[in-house]
Amino acid sequence: MAMIATERKLLIGGEWVETGEWIEVRSPYDRAIVGRVPKAGAAEARKAVDAAEQAMREPLPAHERAAILDRTAALLAERADDASRTISAEAGKPMKAARVEAARAVSTFTMAAVEARKLAGDVVPMDASPAGAGKIAFTLRQPIGIVGAISPFNFPLNLVAHKVAPALAAGCAVVLKPASQTPLSALFLAELETEAGLPAGWLNVVCGPASEIGDVLVEEERVRLISFTGSAPIGWKLRERAPRKRVNLELGNATPVIVAADADLDDAATRLSANAFSFAGQSCISVQRIYVERSIYDAFLELFLPRVEALETGDPSDEATDVGPVISASDRDRILSWIEEAKSGGATVLTGGRLDGELLLPTVIAEPPPKAKVSCEEVFGPVCTVTPFDTFDEAIALANSTRFGLQAGVFTRNLKNALRAAHTLEFGGVTVNEAPTFRADQMPYGGVKDSGNTREGPAYAVREMTDVRLVVLQL
Ligand code: NAP
Repeated sequence: MAMIATERKLLIGGEWVETGEWIEVRSPYDRAIVGRVPKAGAAEARKAVDAAEQAMREPLPAHERAAILDRTAALLAERADDASRTISAEAGKPMKAARVEAARAVSTFTMAAVEARKLAGDVVPMDASPAGAGKIAFTLRQPIGIVGAISPFNFPLNLVAHKVAPALAAGCAVVLKPASQTPLSALFLAELETEAGLPAGWLNVVCGPASEIGDVLVEEERVRLISFTGSAPIGWKLRERAPRKRVNLELGNATPVIVAADADLDDAATRLSANAFSFAGQSCISVQRIYVERSIYDAFLELFLPRVEALETGDPSDEATDVGPVISASDRDRILSWIEEAKSGGATVLTGGRLDGELLLPTVIAEPPPKAKVSCEEVFGPVCTVTPFDTFDEAIALANSTRFGLQAGVFTRNLKNALRAAHTLEFGGVTVNEAPTFRADQMPYGGVKDSGNTREGPAYAVREMTDVRLVVLQL
């Protein structure tokens, strides 16, 4: 049973605001109401942009921004239990995973505070060319302007942190639109930032119809950068509609991993069984396609399948649960239809493939056709595929046979093959002897191809959120 029924207000210009209309937030597990937030529209979004503009008229020095980020990290650490319960209640994320997310958000704020303190430009070697002789030049890192942030449901706290914390580190005010299914964690975080001393207008949170609020962020010239995390079609469309803004996209994946015959199979089976099904596969880098060298295919399955079957499926608020619900009944039905499509194309369901009550059981599909949706689209559910391969080159080609390119992994003890994979897998990140679901928050994280066009991680996001200004001095 989800335990929380919370009412939170929007934050605009330092005021907690109601609109007279409400969005009900329901548990994806049992559909119980876990909270409600005011429903905003274009008018509130514009007020939020006005408030952000007003805030940026009085820039905060770096030491103050850093201190606010540090205090937010400390408050989040103190309130980690509340944060985890809020995440779990609104996203249906098992408590085990929700606690990890809350701890990671602390680290995101901590890293952003470091970046606020060291944000600086470069010295340009002017006498390196005759034209520059007699001059000194350096660059300043100027805040780009108002950041419009749009976040997804699946990490409702830490992916908000990955936008808000670097923006504040860079000196930018933010207008945030969290996912309508999961606005409570974002507003909880806004409360902590206010408590940490963030002055009015630096963070504004508006919840409501995505297209209406999204349109304001696209059309408002004062919003200089849109930071979007979500699905690929929506992200790329936003970018198309805002050609004169920086539009940073963190999108989906169909995450592949290669298990070579020389890998530590026990370790690979343990890591992959956990990382294909954590949060019911609803991570953008959830393990989805496992390619196993044919000579160890059966041995790998003998280790992998019992671990998958041992995962506890159930109520996300139960500390023992590993796999909870997917976000909605329509997603559950979509995923079931994709499993059926793979089966009718000749694939075998090795475990799962059906419901236990309302919950989809962790599902492993052997040898789906390459064109089946489970092979090439992002499942975003508790489903992974296993397929044997004969040569390492074939495995690389299979892993690359996708329009996505966020993270990929390889398990091998052969250094040469590990480095070959690192060079030839067309992804933003490659993990070796670790599931490609791994992420630490200081890492540069982001994709190529359809998976996006930027890197998050405070050190990288801060650069995106600042412009370089050149200063030339004639001596
Ligand atoms: P989504 O449906 O694309 O929604 C993401 C956000 O975009 C939500 O806040 C949504 O608002 C908003 N939105 C929807 N339509 C919009 C529009 N026309 N204009 C502006 N904003 C709009 O994605 P999701 O289902 O929440 O999240 C899952 C997706 O996110 C997956 O594809 C996953 O791979 C990806 N993801 C990527 C990363 C990464 O770092 N690369 C991390 C996590 C998730 P509403 O909720 O109000 O519709």
